[in-house]
Amino acid sequence: MFITFEGIDSSGKSTQCQLLGQYLTDKGFDVLLLREPGGTKISEKIRDLLLDVNSGGMLPLAEFLLYSAARAQLVNEVIRPALTEGKIVICDRFDDSSTAYQGHARGLGMDNVKSINKIATGGLIPDLTIFIDITVEESLKRLKVAGKMTDRMESEDARFFEAVREGYLQLATDDKSDSPNRFKVINGLDDISTIERRIQQIVRDEMVID
Ligand code: ADP
Repeated sequence: MFITFEGIDSSGKSTQCQLLGQYLTDKGFDVLLLREPGGTKISEKIRDLLLDVNSGGMLPLAEFLLYSAARAQLVNEVIRPALTEGKIVICDRFDDSSTAYQGHARGLGMDNVKSINKIATGGLIPDLTIFIDITVEESLKRLKVAGKMTDRMESEDARFFEAVREGYLQLATDDKSDSPNRFKVINGLDDISTIERRIQQIVRDEMVID
């Protein structure tokens, strides 16, 4: 099973990836936790380039193609082999991030981005995507508390994050005829353990486990 987490910065993705990973490991599954961009030698190099505050002036198209390149490498080198071995792969961000960030917020067009996503992933679609939705105000508050906003993407302004959130909400209402139950929206303003339990319930239902 391939599970992805989506959301704006500080929505709780990495917290919930870890918790779900632990939950499934305790149930006896072989779990692989990944985060994008990264996860291979080449993808980590691309990550450095993408998140470097000195990469100012990067074109939205160049940004998108770099994310896609990192993703293609990750899918082929790591995700597909792990799925073939029967592992559960949990990935913090995947191609919906490009649709929301570069397609909607950077203005490349969600449909354009989706068609390149298909090439980059070789058509691999997550079995389940958990979109943790929080307000931009809450995101900025959490980033400030954590003393973050240090990388190039995190230091974008509130208007940019509003647009990213809009992109995600658009994805939630889009036509999903190729994968009708994939995209789940979770209220990220609830407390960590409430969200944790809700995600476990969704995964149990999808996987038909106790
Ligand atoms: P992301 O991976 O989406 O950037 P993180 O999981 O790193 O988000 O969480 C960012 C910060 O917000 C961390 O300090 C984390 O403890 C906190 N956090 C995560 N989920 C919640 C929540 N539901 N309520 C309050 N704070 C949260």
